[in-house]
Amino acid sequence: MDPSRFGVRPTKSLGQNFINDRNVLSRIVEGAGIGGDDLVIEIGPGLGILTAELAAKAAFVTAVEIDERLIPVLGETLSGCGNVRVINGDILKTDIGQIIDECRKEGMFSGRVHIVGNLPYYITTPIIMKLLEEKVPADSITVMMQKEVADRIRSAPGSRTYGAISAAVQYYCRVSKITDVPKEAFVPRPKVESTVLRLEPLGEDQAKARDDEMFLRCVKAGFAQRRKTLLNSLSSAGGMDKETVKKTLEAADVDPGRRAETLTVEEFIRIADRLSDEQDRRDY
Ligand code: SAM
Repeated sequence: MDPSRFGVRPTKSLGQNFINDRNVLSRIVEGAGIGGDDLVIEIGPGLGILTAELAAKAAFVTAVEIDERLIPVLGETLSGCGNVRVINGDILKTDIGQIIDECRKEGMFSGRVHIVGNLPYYITTPIIMKLLEEKVPADSITVMMQKEVADRIRSAPGSRTYGAISAAVQYYCRVSKITDVPKEAFVPRPKVESTVLRLEPLGEDQAKARDDEMFLRCVKAGFAQRRKTLLNSLSSAGGMDKETVKKTLEAADVDPGRRAETLTVEEFIRIADRLSDEQDRRDY
């Protein structure tokens, strides 16, 4: 959809690249797996082109858009959809769990919850980390992002692109790629290619650290200086002397001379649990 139709000049700093390709819309909507009883929370509806497709499948859609200029435009483009609510706000400051609770209480849906969005590129990682760290009760998260970020999220240990975001997302979710999307599918055209990923939060039976925060702290500290050994990166992150970090890594059965980029999620979990043990001993 061309924003000039509505007299709107896209704002680059808000990541406003609007989808202008029907095939891409269908692939996102199919990838999200929306049923007729389900709720969709859409991040950044823009001109509403994806919103209308989501509304055609779901029981109800709540869309959060930061740009107040787009609110009247959405009123116009979505006038035929009786099952959409648009909220003018910043998704990073929005309590998504509360929106889901309210929609359930108001009887807007009885099925599952899906989060969908063509994400603004400048805050892709903070949005994904917010959804995961706040444990937003969603059954799926289907989001388009810069291809490079999607490649990092999907990377396996040992690969050049494996980093903190890969370990963090794979700790919480099963990741699958829906499709790559070329620049030509957007107005205005971005400089980079895009990819749609589907993230499915893992069930309670999956391996988890005793303390999610400790897991994330280990991952962030490990990758903060990725050329350093774990012994050096974890001890320079503060809080513990080298000797204690060495003992902790050995107790987790991880060689202190290894680098974070070679560690599996399970190994990070073992380290985080031993660090939690160590913290308990100190607090005691
Ligand atoms: N969904 C539309 C589409 O696919 O054509 C627009 C996608 S565009 C890549 C990203 C949208 O997110 C824009 O409408 C932008 O204004 C909005 N946005 C940017 N930052 C946001 C934030 N912090 N909270 C909510 N929406 C935001």
